[in-house]
Amino acid sequence: MNFLITGAAGFLGSALANQLAREGHVVRGLDDLSSGENERLFEDVHFTRGDVNDRPKLWTLLQDIDCVYHLAARVRVAESLLYPREYTDVNVGGTVSLMEAMRDVGVRRVVFASSGAVYGDQEVQPLNEEANTLPSSPYAVSKLSAEYYVRTIGTLWGIETVSLRIFNAFGPNQQLPPSHPPVVPNWLRQAVRGGSLVVHADGQQTRDFVYVTDVVRSLVAAATAPNVDRAVINIGSGIETRLADLAEMILEVSHSQAELLFTPRNDPGVSRTRADISLAKKLLSFEPKVSLEEGLKRTLDEDPRFETVKANV
Ligand code: NAD
Repeated sequence: MNFLITGAAGFLGSALANQLAREGHVVRGLDDLSSGENERLFEDVHFTRGDVNDRPKLWTLLQDIDCVYHLAARVRVAESLLYPREYTDVNVGGTVSLMEAMRDVGVRRVVFASSGAVYGDQEVQPLNEEANTLPSSPYAVSKLSAEYYVRTIGTLWGIETVSLRIFNAFGPNQQLPPSHPPVVPNWLRQAVRGGSLVVHADGQQTRDFVYVTDVVRSLVAAATAPNVDRAVINIGSGIETRLADLAEMILEVSHSQAELLFTPRNDPGVSRTRADISLAKKLLSFEPKVSLEEGLKRTLDEDPRFETVKANV
């Protein structure tokens, strides 16, 4: 098949692009490199640097494409509180630009990377797709809004759409920005360096961590699965892990002597998150294969950034 991946140089996009290329598909990648790195992409991924709002570029890239994966986005929740307009421009505007261009060119299917963040803080767990959405950040609002645009424009113009609400993905090459980095790579780096692991509040908040290769398998399946048109599907491990337990596990797998430092924080994020993945099992035959512990070990082994840190200790 012929695929276009937006956000192809990012953490999930590059893992997906390389997997599809490995399977022998034709893969085009678009990314503005605002946070991604195209050096990660295999040589046979056809990479173009560009903005997801650039419709003439999209018209060209969409020629002969069977399925689009839409992953390009600004992805940092905390940053979105400061720059909601940029999050709207890229995450919502970029999605509408892409859908318009798909309509113009006539592409059959789009798989959209939505987020478990759209659920916000909920009493009832695990979260299934019927739950009310309570987005609590501009990032979460932008993903939910993009989901609606994808489905609405898809319905109007006969484009098949699948939205995957991905929970907390982790694995090698996840972005590690200087401010508000994602918890897993941040704590792995701290553990390897021997610094303290800073746990916000009491660490009793839970998250559903899902390893990158499992997310990629769900994305691959979504391109060809039957009976998924208009579907919104959770992708997680189905297991909730307390952040304090994650920190302990990270110390263990990295054989680190680092200490846990609990700090008070006004906003430790949502209190619990666990995905109900029964719909993914049913529609995509999705079964997570890599446990949290195994995924942490693989990330340490495979991510060259932790090697550099180890070498510098
Ligand atoms: P990432 O930041 O590594 O990837 C996003 C990519 O989009 C980056 O390479 C960035 O350069 C690119 N990009 C940003 N703005 C762009 C623009 N205007 N035009 C073209 N490219 C642009 O993040 P990721 O973790 O790989 O996330 C990929 C997608 O999955 C995102 O849509 C994100 O919202 C979604 N998602 C990720 C997770 C997770 O845990 N990683 C969870 C839920 C949803």
